[in-house]
Amino acid sequence: MALLQIAEPGQSPLPHQVKRAVGIDLGTTNSLVATMRGGRATVLPDERGEVMLPSVVNYSSERSPLVGADAVALAAQSPADTLMSIKRFMGRGSVDALADAQRSHYRLAEGDEGLVRFITSGGAVSPVEVSADILRVLRQRAVATLGGEIDGAVITVPAYFDEAQRQATKDAATLAGLRVLRLMNEPTAAAVAYGLDSAEQGVIAVYDLGGGTFDISILRLQKGVFEVLATGGDTALGGDDLDSALADWVLQECGSPTLAAGQYRQLQAAARDAKERLSDEQEVDIDLQGVMPAGGTVRVTRETFESLVLPLVKRTLRACRKCLRDAELDAGVDNIVMVGGSTRVPLVREAVADFFKRTPLIDIDPDQVVAVGAAIQADILAGNRPEGDLLLLDVIPLSLGLETMGGLVEKIVPRNTTIPVSRAQEFTTFKDGQTALAVHILQGEREMVSDCRSLAHFELRGIPPMVAGAARIRVTFQVDADGLLNVSAREEITGAESSITVKPSFGLSDEEIANMLQSSFSHAAEDKQARQLAEERLGAWQLLEGLKSALKADGEALLSAEEREAITGQMTELQALVEGQDADAIHAQTERLGRLSEAFASRRMDKSIRAALAGVSLDSLDDEVTQ
Ligand code: ADP
Ligand code: MG
Repeated sequence: MALLQIAEPGQSPLPHQVKRAVGIDLGTTNSLVATMRGGRATVLPDERGEVMLPSVVNYSSERSPLVGADAVALAAQSPADTLMSIKRFMGRGSVDALADAQRSHYRLAEGDEGLVRFITSGGAVSPVEVSADILRVLRQRAVATLGGEIDGAVITVPAYFDEAQRQATKDAATLAGLRVLRLMNEPTAAAVAYGLDSAEQGVIAVYDLGGGTFDISILRLQKGVFEVLATGGDTALGGDDLDSALADWVLQECGSPTLAAGQYRQLQAAARDAKERLSDEQEVDIDLQGVMPAGGTVRVTRETFESLVLPLVKRTLRACRKCLRDAELDAGVDNIVMVGGSTRVPLVREAVADFFKRTPLIDIDPDQVVAVGAAIQADILAGNRPEGDLLLLDVIPLSLGLETMGGLVEKIVPRNTTIPVSRAQEFTTFKDGQTALAVHILQGEREMVSDCRSLAHFELRGIPPMVAGAARIRVTFQVDADGLLNVSAREEITGAESSITVKPSFGLSDEEIANMLQSSFSHAAEDKQARQLAEERLGAWQLLEGLKSALKADGEALLSAEEREAITGQMTELQALVEGQDADAIHAQTERLGRLSEAFASRRMDKSIRAALAGVSLDSLDDEVTQ
């Protein structure tokens, strides 16, 4: 069984020294900071009394960056200098990000290691720097409120964030002068905010409908430990889409006039305002003065609004169904936590209650619940609660493995495995006298290397020359509590070791993750065949290579001319089959040749035992060890 390691949740503090610890929800649309005050987690407001900081930054050559509402005010006027929804670009390469950037009218520049950068009047900035600017404002807000420098922060990330995206978030925090105690998954934070961790056990669904994204996560709580069973969602579905649905309806009601870009943006804003009011009222009037050429007002009832957004709500439920399937639950969920401003829409609440057959938890403000949970966890990790025994386990979104001979992927850590985790497997050499091993780390669900995503390469050198298959190389995959992967390879005889921390040059968007998963399902049968063929070819190739070198060494001495001819004849036949596509035929011929050469192999074995007894060892083999 796998070794599952659980990290220490921080050390006990000195008796009366309380650390200043904060939880930060670094959101796509809005960001918040919270801390424990008077035994309660509370979000911290700015000097204007606002707790939500719009995740928007405006850059200019004349002044330092503007963050939040002030930046939002400049969005229409200087779109390319006003960066929004930057979370979507975290840890992603410029190639990856191109489509998203075009949609948002940003100018892209190639950064280090192919990472994306945006060109603004204030210079080129990376998503990490933009996020750092947002985090810096929240840090200053906390410093001002708490009266001193922050000792540590818990920053939340979507559960599906991969290594690169998590690393980018950590880098942003460091750049903003924050010490990261831990990255925490958003759904886990929401569950902690509701104190669901104090129950004996249970299964929790976290339904998060924000401004531009939808995330669903299934968590399991057991003996005070949270485990993320599965995650799913839609990166292009959120409150903005509800706004658009309503805006399009209004436009139609008004006879579909042609609007200027600026007017359409105003219509969107008016629709958003109406949508938010409709969460409390049965009908509202939308003022179209300055929005529509004809002005006037239009009345919209909640019923109309609901009929407009029902298809979108249903889409979220489909994602929920899939996620439940992924979680492989026997029974239903015990609790549903609602997160994100859009869960204020009554229809959303009803549909979710209906789907899960439970009343969702809505008591904590859905905008604040993630920051609140992060603040509680930060308090524990900072050591402010010596009794704190909360352990949080997260999940990896895609399987991690390495390349083996034949272009095959051996999965070491399967997808949805909870982290931190450490898994090891033994591998061996393929060729006689092989002294180095190429370790190629891959991510994905498909069977062939070419269909998975390459994360990193490294080499293990210093393997003593031995016959193929004799070396024992232990490869260990370790994913830490923040989701960062370290892979090490160790040759057991000499102890030669080599390792790498995987920080891929860019990460995957969850859309890509979804695509990779989808294609692994749809290619399952084809992959199985490809794998079988690759394995049979490999087996055949190994036998052929072994026999070639054995014939060269001992063919004359240990075999009669007829025996030699029989073996080489069958070898030629196998060689021809290996080039074809028939896995079964390769298998049958490999078996045949194997049986035919059995006697030869045992004669060779006898010979080498006799040689060994006579004191002749393999030391005479050429040594090309480089380390
Ligand atoms: P994110 O997680 O993406 O940062 P939030 O959780 O802050 O986003 O959610 C923002 C979304 O919530 C916006 O689309 C906003 O219109 C919507 N929202 C906020 N309040 C309400 C409300 N009362 N009724 C309906 N939608 C709301
Ligand atoms: Mg959010």
